[in-house]
Amino acid sequence: MALTSEDDYDCLCKVVLVGDVSVGKTHLLSRYMKDDLPKAPAATIGVEFATKTMKLSSGVNVKTQIWDTAGQERYRAITRAHYRRAAGAVLVYDVTRQETFRSCSLWVTEVREGAQPNAIIMLVGNKIDLVEQDPSSRQVYHDVAAEFARQNGLMFMEASAVSGANVKRAFEDLLQEVYAKAPKESKGLENESGSDMGAARD
Ligand code: GDP
Ligand code: MG
Repeated sequence: MALTSEDDYDCLCKVVLVGDVSVGKTHLLSRYMKDDLPKAPAATIGVEFATKTMKLSSGVNVKTQIWDTAGQERYRAITRAHYRRAAGAVLVYDVTRQETFRSCSLWVTEVREGAQPNAIIMLVGNKIDLVEQDPSSRQVYHDVAAEFARQNGLMFMEASAVSGANVKRAFEDLLQEVYAKAPKESKGLENESGSDMGAARD
């Protein structure tokens, strides 16, 4: 079967975005995919994903399918389809809201139960631009989050979807690690829909 250049990749990785509502998941995804912020509110039904192909420093082409939620996290009702076969997760909290950080251990448990057993998780403390503007707005200290990440075997970065700081790095470091850790035989994943933007239901 001939491959189009769009499908010319060495690895297809599924990555899920998780974290409490309003921490900035959709904004981080939009910043990474389009280097822009979302223009319209996200759809309210289903789980959506977007794909992007990225060349790792090793020259390997990784096609990533990044799954955003569509508000189900508000009710802790994310479907199993969201996690299924995910090789990586971006777990987001808001550095200005302590409760969103406290939820992270629950999210880690959910990802570990629903995704691939060896899934790599990148913990992202988002909205760091607010702390740069006003240091007193910080509710989650960098060192506390870094220690939580260390204890749970997570990668960690503070970022801002608004300023763009660390967004590309967070996704690309995660993908690099996912690829490095993936067993040879699973460096591929059948495409579930074949389209570049898609929606799926459990
Ligand atoms: P989601 O529910 O996790 O998908 O969060 P959204 O992406 O919808 O963002 C929730 C709110 O946080 C929106 O009002 C965004 O404008 C705001 N927001 C998202 N990311 C940032 C950021 O990096 N900095 C600031 N200051 N606001 C952000
Ligand atoms: Mg969202």
